[in-house]
Amino acid sequence: MIQQPGTSGLVLNEALLWDKSRDGRCAISLPKQDVDRATLDDSLTGDIPDLPQLSELDVVRHYTRLSQWNFGVDTGMYPLGSCTMKYNPKTNEVQAARKGFAEAHPLAGDEFSQGSLKLMYNLERYLAELTGFEAVTLQPAAGAHGELTGMLMMHAYFAKKGKQRSKIIIPDTAHGTNPASAALCGFEPINVKSGPDGILDPETIAAVMDEDTAGIMVTNPNTLGLFESNIKKIADIVHSKGGLVYGDGANMNAIMGIVKPGEIGIDVLHLNLHKTFSTPHGGGGPGSGPVAVGKRLEPFLPVPRVVKELDSYKFITDCPETIGKIHTFYGHFGIMVRAYAYILSMGAKGLLDTSRLAVLSANYIKESLKGTLNLPYDRPCMHECVFNDEIQQKNHITTVDMAKRLLDYGFHPPTIYFPLVVHGAFMVEPTESESKEDIDQFIDAVKAIAKEAKEDPEKLRKAPFRTKVTRLDEVTAARKPCLKG
Ligand SMILES: *Cc1c(COP(=O)(O)O)cnc(C)c1O
Repeated sequence: MIQQPGTSGLVLNEALLWDKSRDGRCAISLPKQDVDRATLDDSLTGDIPDLPQLSELDVVRHYTRLSQWNFGVDTGMYPLGSCTMKYNPKTNEVQAARKGFAEAHPLAGDEFSQGSLKLMYNLERYLAELTGFEAVTLQPAAGAHGELTGMLMMHAYFAKKGKQRSKIIIPDTAHGTNPASAALCGFEPINVKSGPDGILDPETIAAVMDEDTAGIMVTNPNTLGLFESNIKKIADIVHSKGGLVYGDGANMNAIMGIVKPGEIGIDVLHLNLHKTFSTPHGGGGPGSGPVAVGKRLEPFLPVPRVVKELDSYKFITDCPETIGKIHTFYGHFGIMVRAYAYILSMGAKGLLDTSRLAVLSANYIKESLKGTLNLPYDRPCMHECVFNDEIQQKNHITTVDMAKRLLDYGFHPPTIYFPLVVHGAFMVEPTESESKEDIDQFIDAVKAIAKEAKEDPEKLRKAPFRTKVTRLDEVTAARKPCLKG
């Protein structure tokens, strides 16, 4: 048995700073006063804030310990399906911290922002090339924001045609943000079921697509980690009724350099820089959800747009059909620098290899754990694989019991109970970042837990044991959170 990363741990208790506070203790030494004492003016008197009084070491230890309670991709494997928790290369941070980028001011004007504009322009071109589209906006702040932007463009497209449409088709394997984004734009989501093989059947779409339907939102690869191989036929059906195809490209990590969505019938697609392009997910920075479009939707792109004229770059806003602004200035620039650094450091071949490796790793896990966990859709997967707890149910062990126990083995649990089409889903996405040895440790941990499910289910239902807090009553934890160390 391979030594698991989570079998030993020094979990320190941490009191609140107020509990550690001692009157008169101070983290700084001020020089001796050499001016006359003066009283504070009225506005500064009154209640002195209740700040804890601590030494420098108290403060350093407190925050260092808190930082160690965190789990991130720099700590260990983070196999959260649908989230692409890949490694965030440190070179991205170095590039984003360069003075010229980090201190660029959005009001400096085009003339003084040529480097930043060039980076944004080039990033748009690279993303357009990778996805097979004409034009890209980098403004949206996240995937869901990209969906909203795309839906607003579809809405504007039908408005311009003179007949607005009221519905949009959304498969049961779509990400939950899809129907929400569509509904925000006033479209009624029409839910359709995938076939028994986990992908869409063109006939199902043909049966619901009509001239009051704006189109379809397809997550491809879908949330089961399967490639929608009928996508071209489906796009033809939707287009034949005058509709448009929205592609949710959050799972582009599986198909970079292999499939160009713009060439297989997709009209508008969002990407997640914080998934596919290695920028941090929250915490380390905001997200970014660029949207790529073909010629038909290009006039509706948000403003400003970055253009190149001769050898200089500028923002333009005189686009009469634009949906307007959807973010202040031009989105999250620091994130764009990181994604750009990633693309340049990988190169075209590197990006292609990334996708191949992500798919290989997921299939390796799928094959290795098949039989240990139930695999509802037993076919080659893309970047993630979806199991469930059907086998463990015999011992009254559920997905959440196994996910909690994984914490004891030193792994962040995978995504659980999503996608909704799989009852008790356990969805693993290793990404290309993990080595075979790390993946094997994860596989061994899941196998060991499956063994515990048979031999000592009683104990497993109480897991985790080695974490700061053990099994919580989740409802109480959510309703009455206790934020004290
Ligand atoms: C993550 C994800 C989204 C939403 O992206 P956010 O950046 O979290 O808003 C949408 N669709 C799919 C398939 C996703 O995996």
